[in-house]
Amino acid sequence: TYAIEISDLKKRYESGFEALKGVNLTVEKGDFFALLGPNGAGKSTTIGILCSLVNKSSGKVAIFGEDIDKNFAKAKQYLGVVPQEFNFNVFETVFNVVVTQAGFYGIDKEIAAKRAEKYLKELDLWDKKDVQSRMLSGGMKRRLMIARALIHEPEVLILDEPTAGVDIELRRSMWEFIKGLNENGTTIILTTHYLEEAEQLCRNIAIINAGEIVENTSIKALLKTL
Ligand code: ADP
Ligand code: ADP
Repeated sequence: TYAIEISDLKKRYESGFEALKGVNLTVEKGDFFALLGPNGAGKSTTIGILCSLVNKSSGKVAIFGEDIDKNFAKAKQYLGVVPQEFNFNVFETVFNVVVTQAGFYGIDKEIAAKRAEKYLKELDLWDKKDVQSRMLSGGMKRRLMIARALIHEPEVLILDEPTAGVDIELRRSMWEFIKGLNENGTTIILTTHYLEEAEQLCRNIAIINAGEIVENTSIKALLKTL
């Protein structure tokens, strides 16, 4: 089974706009996968549907074989999501932002506290643990979102434009961190509009434009054609 299998996925927003026109995609377990495309191509819509933040119009999505329409609770356990917008409670401390998330997954408090410590340390946020999250810089907030998404140790980590607005030095260290997760077996899916980012990190790539997949191949094969 694939980590992610998307078949003939369509999305028409209430405005009538057709954001996805029959997307087919598969991502293998352990892959480092990029969904590349210009602004407005449908990347966030695809990610939103994967984690059921956006309703699809038609098509099928399975996560490790679990159809999200039939068994979302199970499918959701596999996913950690780092959305583009900061969506944590800004008045909560950094530590609590991470452990509160654990509550959604029924994770024991002691385990949650240990994991929060581990990931906040790895993401260089431990010295901010008692600070209200609104006080963090943009790059720190981004890293906090990553720590939060990892609290249930998901099989698949999905990052929507993870390095948007992040300076080059931090971008590199985030890349290293994400690579490390992948080396330890986590399937990574990221969206980006920089080919360079996909090229530096990913193994396989799908290119989306105007709601359609126009290419789905390995990075190596893609670079040969350019
Ligand atoms: P990307 O992430 O690739 O930039 P999105 O998935 O965010 O693209 O958006 C795809 C298209 O759908 C864009 O043209 C966007 O304006 C449109 N869109 C996104 N959300 C909505 C919405 N809620 N209602 C109508 N159109 C939307
Ligand atoms: P609700 O049922 O109110 O939508 P959820 O439990 O789905 O609440 O989500 C709570 C918060 O966690 C939201 O901010 C959402 O964006 C985020 N979230 C949902 N699913 C995931 C996930 N798999 N990984 C990380 N964050 C998630």
